[in-house]
Amino acid sequence: MKLRKVTAASAAVFALALTATACGGDDSGDGGSSSSGGGEKIKIGIKYDQPGLGLKTPDGSFSGFDVDVATYVAKELGYEPNQIEWVETKSADRENALSRGDVKLIAATYSITDERKQKVDFAGPYLLAHQDLLVKADSDITEATDLNDKKLCSVTGSTSAQNVKNDFAPKAQLSNRGGYSECLSALQSGQVDALTTDDSILAGYAAQDQYKGKFKLAGLKLSNENYGIGVKKGDTETVNKVNAALEKMVSDGSWEKAVEDNFGPANYKNEPAPKIGQLVK
Ligand code: GLU
Repeated sequence: MKLRKVTAASAAVFALALTATACGGDDSGDGGSSSSGGGEKIKIGIKYDQPGLGLKTPDGSFSGFDVDVATYVAKELGYEPNQIEWVETKSADRENALSRGDVKLIAATYSITDERKQKVDFAGPYLLAHQDLLVKADSDITEATDLNDKKLCSVTGSTSAQNVKNDFAPKAQLSNRGGYSECLSALQSGQVDALTTDDSILAGYAAQDQYKGKFKLAGLKLSNENYGIGVKKGDTETVNKVNAALEKMVSDGSWEKAVEDNFGPANYKNEPAPKIGQLVK
């Protein structure tokens, strides 16, 4: 994502997060195949409110690392960019969106977990991120143990919210919202003391022009989040094709370019490209 785009988009992030709905598309139930003049389409689920990863900009375009990865994969599957229909898939909606056939693929900061693998299949991983905390610049929260009795915001249906309870801050007062941009508003207004999710997402928020100097990442690696491309359970053919596309994306340099374009402006220090099928636990 170009810095200019991030800046232009930032003002609308909250409005978008409030108004956008996670609606699926046609009745075909296979996440694609709706031929409406422009040839066959593929429906791909992304986030709409996560700058640097998946963002719907005010002019109606889409940007971010997940968008670039999905666009590359779609091309390898035989779909040009104008044949992609982007669909917002919030954290809690992802498994259902795939099962129902609302979308063919999901590239939405979607961590591969054993629990989710009961319901969907994954290609990848294509990025390794780590859970972290975003706090106000003057906050004295520096460790997970500082969160006891503090108000912490995360998102329903995310590993971020799950890990708080299971692992590092069972005594925090966890408040879950529908999307991370809603948590960011709550952090800014002082309703919560910290926002927790993947460092990749938090870095994108902190780097937006209107937040420069206002927030900081704690820099804790509280978990390993292996991002996969979600596919309907049992669709092994698509998983194999997407894996081949991801391998090609890394080997021809497009993965690195997408990293620089999208994470460069946020100064996010990403991990190297993961190997397909190898999860960091
Ligand atoms: N990667 C984590 C997850 O899949 C957190 C980010 C998100 O909610 O999309 O739950």
